[in-house]
Amino acid sequence: MAGDDPKELLFLCALQNAVKHGGVPQSGAVIGMVMGAHPELRSRAKEVSSLAKEAIADVAKLSPEERVATLQSRAPEMITALSEKHEKKTGLPDLEGAEKGVVMRFAPNPSGPLHIGHARAAALNDAYVKQYGGRYILRIEDTDPKRVDPGAYATVQEDIKWLGLGITEVVTQSDRLPVYYDLCKQLIERGGAYVCTCDNEHFKELKQHKTACPCRSQPVEKSLELWQRMLDHGFKEGEASVRIRTDLNHPDPAMRDFPAFRILDYPPHPKVTAHVYPLMNFSVVADDHLLGVTHVIRGKDHIANTRRQRYIYDHFGWNVPVYRHYGRMGIEGVVLSTSQMRAGINDGTYSGWDDIRLGTLRALARRGILPEAVKNAMIAIGIGDVDISFSWDNLYAENKKLVDPTANRYFFVPAPVEARIEGATAHTAHALLHPSDAARGSRTLEFTGTVLLRRAELVPGTAMVRLKDLFNVKIAWNGDTPSFSYGGDSLADARAAKAHIIQWLPAQATVPCTLLTQEGTMSGACEPAVRSELGKVVQFERVGFVKIDAVGDDGVRAYFTHK
Ligand code: GLU
Repeated sequence: MAGDDPKELLFLCALQNAVKHGGVPQSGAVIGMVMGAHPELRSRAKEVSSLAKEAIADVAKLSPEERVATLQSRAPEMITALSEKHEKKTGLPDLEGAEKGVVMRFAPNPSGPLHIGHARAAALNDAYVKQYGGRYILRIEDTDPKRVDPGAYATVQEDIKWLGLGITEVVTQSDRLPVYYDLCKQLIERGGAYVCTCDNEHFKELKQHKTACPCRSQPVEKSLELWQRMLDHGFKEGEASVRIRTDLNHPDPAMRDFPAFRILDYPPHPKVTAHVYPLMNFSVVADDHLLGVTHVIRGKDHIANTRRQRYIYDHFGWNVPVYRHYGRMGIEGVVLSTSQMRAGINDGTYSGWDDIRLGTLRALARRGILPEAVKNAMIAIGIGDVDISFSWDNLYAENKKLVDPTANRYFFVPAPVEARIEGATAHTAHALLHPSDAARGSRTLEFTGTVLLRRAELVPGTAMVRLKDLFNVKIAWNGDTPSFSYGGDSLADARAAKAHIIQWLPAQATVPCTLLTQEGTMSGACEPAVRSELGKVVQFERVGFVKIDAVGDDGVRAYFTHK
């Protein structure tokens, strides 16, 4: 920070704050910043406070442009610091040509709910739109009726709402068939496409030999006439298609005169009546161009499509957006294939799209993963083109950062046994709802003689345990059978005896609790107060974070989130 004069320091800090956030800063923020960097000024708090007010008033007199210019001339490093902080916030590399704002899109197929694999494109595009400002289009790519699940229009929207993407507009491709038809006609007129009536197998054969089919050289008028015939139902499925004129000598046969439109009669489209459908490469280019998309971030599996799409751009003479292709991401431990998920739901293997063994966003939500954690994890993975395997541990670490400060703590005793503690008088335990936030208060657990303990924690031979927030218990063993007696209140004694501190519940005041994990179910009991946490993530102490999924007469159902 430039200079040591408190007045100048306060003015520059106020200025920087105003440039960063727009508007006039609060004096507390400015004073905090200056005191943080110059602790020696803390003894002059009064003076600093009145100087801060003056500094803020001075900044308020400047226009936004004057503020930037003043900061630039008096403390350029403070301008640099602003953008460095910004970069650190996302950690994503700059996008070329994005300085004036971007138009980006997330373009899922409505074939099922979104899963963790979709989240990468969704979150990266979102982060860049937030970084540079601009529009974020949700484009529902539903021009292949074989890959449309009518229910997915709603689920995709719900999933996006849950993720909290900054979508500014929604476009559904099946609403735009006339737009694609019109562009197709234009492309045929330009000689960039032709209607091909060759048998598919025959065309493939020719293509392998870099040989043009007879349709390629037919006059434009002929193609136009055939195109109209396609639209007028004059051809059946497989009898005609539109092909993009590319390079028949291209080393990759998949680039040679690839198809742009096809005829499909079955299955019927759930939203429109159609006979001719654009293939993805055509509709994607048409929309990326017409919607003004400036930057496309998508997976490496689209690199070949990017090459194909470039031919269409060139035929039209349109500018190509900036592309970034990120590497493949292997995801283990959950089911991601939509057809496998659907089959499992239909035959009862999975309870629904939010079954926690699935990799859908709704399954993650059900077990207490927050949308911010998903986005942060994806941004941390970034747009690198190296293939990686997705780390659940990193996602859990992101989630833990968010839930740890908010989750209340409770006792849960899985597979419990009842234990009568001889010699102990009535005690009241006050256990904090949160260990680092005493202000949140505590739970009260009344001990009246008998407790529930986790059988697995009573290892034969153990002489003493401490019941957390209560007292010490001495254990006498008769073979494998323990008996329990009061061992005093002193924590120091427990420490000296190296006693484990374990969870417990007053036997007379518990609620049955089932904890579902991806590996199986744990049955036990929890504190009655857990019933008030429906829909929230809490921590079952020593077990982990859990989401309270259901609360009923028969008890509590929770899903395991992570340790
Ligand atoms: N709908 C395509 C997909 O889900 C995305 C197309 C694109 O990003 O260009 O794979």
